[in-house]
Amino acid sequence: MSNGSKFVVVGAGLAGAKAVETLRDEGFEGAIDLVGDEREYPYERPPLSKDYLLGKQPREGALVHDGDWYAKHDVTLHLGTRATRLDLSDHRIELKGGASLDFDKLLLATGSSPRKLRIPGNELDGVFYLRRIEHTDALISALSGGGQKVVFIGGGWIGLEVASAARTYQNEVTIIEPQNTLLEGPLGPELGGMFTDLHREHGVRLLLGDSVEEIKGTDGKVSAVVTKSGETVAADVVVVGIGARPNVELAEDAKLDVDNGVLVDAALQTSHPDVYAAGDIANVFNPLFGRRIRVEHWANALNSGPLAARSMLGQSVSYDRVPYFFTDQYDLGMEYSGDIGPDGYDNVVYRGDPSTREFIAFWTKDGRVLAGMNVNVWDVTDDVQALIKSKKPIDAARLADKNVPLSDLVN
Ligand code: FAD
Repeated sequence: MSNGSKFVVVGAGLAGAKAVETLRDEGFEGAIDLVGDEREYPYERPPLSKDYLLGKQPREGALVHDGDWYAKHDVTLHLGTRATRLDLSDHRIELKGGASLDFDKLLLATGSSPRKLRIPGNELDGVFYLRRIEHTDALISALSGGGQKVVFIGGGWIGLEVASAARTYQNEVTIIEPQNTLLEGPLGPELGGMFTDLHREHGVRLLLGDSVEEIKGTDGKVSAVVTKSGETVAADVVVVGIGARPNVELAEDAKLDVDNGVLVDAALQTSHPDVYAAGDIANVFNPLFGRRIRVEHWANALNSGPLAARSMLGQSVSYDRVPYFFTDQYDLGMEYSGDIGPDGYDNVVYRGDPSTREFIAFWTKDGRVLAGMNVNVWDVTDDVQALIKSKKPIDAARLADKNVPLSDLVN
């Protein structure tokens, strides 16, 4: 790429910030503009529902780079600036306020936004969503004094992490979740059951198989949540965690191919050769799995941003990573690798006793490992991912046997 090239990255989150870092690391000397609608320097979101929420990590601990990194690396940051329109014929991105940026190559890394509840009472004071650091600041104010009645609508990953923080701050917590087991969607009933037990043991009241009909308020402030089954649960604070949707508006308006995210090939290139997508918004053809996967997790932003940058530089790259994520709730930490896929699993194999909460679970189909989750067991991710990548049937008894090193099973 010549010195005169102009690269623009829209979305100053983890994927965008790691992409610009890689462009400079790879020796790109052209102009780089990083556009983000938040006012903060790019930051990572996992601490927002964990250590930053719990007051164990300072605000700057979440930053991807120190604030002065961008100027030092000649990256022009446009913070608090929303990109409003992508003009593909002129290779131009328009910004709120009337300015615009021309580009030779563009990376879209606009992440996701929380799904909104559309029921009576959703605008009352005391109803919280969580995506941005200011949302965590508001939650800290609401929860850290303890003694509040906190109702969670939705028992997904973020809701459960915040529920665990709310209990740690000594609040009364109720979770309302339509499925009969927490995390039944992503984990299935077996391992979802472990998280269900975990929250019950920590004094969380679970209303499973139920959903929310209405949020009631007094003087504009939330006072209760009414469920479909007719129960009224008193509430000072309501936290809504019902999933996220990819921010694909720019791509859609520009007529890029979009279907559950921006469609990209294994090199993270969209249907336009000069436009790339990474992070939560990218629905990637993953050659390892032979199908499209869209991942809304930290490691995907961390790895796909840099890969997109190398692709923009004309390098031959392929995004064939095994999806990975982690969660921390109370004293349980876990890492999950894999993607079960549309055909599902037929067995769960445990290495270690799940009741001790120190074990590895493997989801298998026809003996092949589709996914693995290590709970309070560490430094096994590479081995778990190697088993998934091998696509070989593994003897279940050996998989379960702690005396057989995982690395022996692959070879
Ligand atoms: P984002 O981080 O969403 O960044 C995109 C940025 O683009 C945002 O700042 C957005 O405002 C901005 N933007 C959007 N549209 C425009 C526009 N038109 N113009 C300008 N800017 C725009 N994952 C895990 O694996 N483990 C965890 O424990 C975990 N915890 C999480 C906790 C919370 C509270 C949240 C919210 C997420 C968590 N995740 C976790 C998920 C992980 O943080 C995301 O997958 C990751 O942030 C995605 O990065 P991204 O760069 O694609 O998008």
